[in-house]
Amino acid sequence: MSDLPLRVVRGRLLQPHPTEPRFTLVPDALVRIDAAGTFSSVEPAPPDCDIPETWPGAVLLPGFVDAHLHFPQTEILGSASGPLLPWLQTSVFPEESRFGDRSYAERVAATFCGAMLRQGTTLAGIYSSSHPIATEVLFEELDRRGLRALTGVTWMNRGAPPALLRGTGEALAATESLVERWDGRDGRLRVCVTPRFALSCDAEMLRAAGEVAGRHGLWVQTHLSENPDELKFTAEAYPGASDYLAIYEDFGLVNERSILAHCIHLSDGEWARLAARGAVVAHCPDSNFFLGSGCMPLARALGEGVRVALGTDVGAGRTFSLRRVAASAYDASLVVGAPVAPEVLLWLATRGGALALGAGDQVGCLAPGYEADLVAIEAPDGLAMTPLIDALLFRHDAGPALATVIRGRVRWGHG
Ligand SMILES: [Zn+2]
Repeated sequence: MSDLPLRVVRGRLLQPHPTEPRFTLVPDALVRIDAAGTFSSVEPAPPDCDIPETWPGAVLLPGFVDAHLHFPQTEILGSASGPLLPWLQTSVFPEESRFGDRSYAERVAATFCGAMLRQGTTLAGIYSSSHPIATEVLFEELDRRGLRALTGVTWMNRGAPPALLRGTGEALAATESLVERWDGRDGRLRVCVTPRFALSCDAEMLRAAGEVAGRHGLWVQTHLSENPDELKFTAEAYPGASDYLAIYEDFGLVNERSILAHCIHLSDGEWARLAARGAVVAHCPDSNFFLGSGCMPLARALGEGVRVALGTDVGAGRTFSLRRVAASAYDASLVVGAPVAPEVLLWLATRGGALALGAGDQVGCLAPGYEADLVAIEAPDGLAMTPLIDALLFRHDAGPALATVIRGRVRWGHG
């Protein structure tokens, strides 16, 4: 891996449409990148071009966007302990409790960021643990790797072992302190207010989360409507709320800067309000299959105009690969009887994710003026666009990305 910035790339390219869920295949493109790491031109290679193909056999795409995953679950990925609530108690909370140790957090942060880059992810919405020190470490590692991300300490003051619980004042102070040091860093890192979910937070905590987000214009991420038992206990915990979404709405946590993971068991009214408020659904089908949570009705969400991005949800998700998640999304769409085209899913995993996470002006297109974030993936030669996209998404034995490039620098693989 060279640390020298790339200035020219030649190869086959799948160019997403900026606003519609489709691609254009450019069989042989010449891409130029300026000294600031921005695309300066993207054009078909001239017939007499003597620049060699940068990654022979590859197809180039914008970097993948993972709208939802958990840094402190890196080491328990694939831990099978049943559905959501027992899985949290058995597999997740004991592991997350380890993140008060800086050196452990450092080691896992290196693994975590490496795993994202290996699979071509360049932008992510990440949950840290509830520990300020682990979150600081995560920001440091994201910064070192050049990754673009929204993240923050996870807020939780009930329903977990004491080592993970924080008072509202502590969570607020940790978030304010991260905002001072990291929010807006290098135009790539944002602090995200991260109440784990309503069952983990009392009303005072959710109120404070909404207030701090409003005060600083921060993004918010939480979980919504994943599992039937969770729904039952949540309704008992918030008896005054008209439905699950209303709990978050009541505290100012649902707007166009909100990322709500799962959204599987919503009512008609909740869908309509999500669309009206412009909130983003992070669709995490691989996780949903692993925990037996159900299938989010993706075609319906898109049809109602809800903004959707894809998430691995590591470590309930069993992979860091957005290609695998897109494949699971396809499977889930068939299960609910409303298939979504692979081309649409690949778009959600790239350009759609960038738009959903508020970075659509900076990344997600291979076009002049956008930051030069791209991924090179091995794919069979000579395919038309539809079979090419099928090959990218559904051949699960395929390896990691050949290269992942951020702002013109190769951050994984060779260049
Ligand atoms: Zn999650």
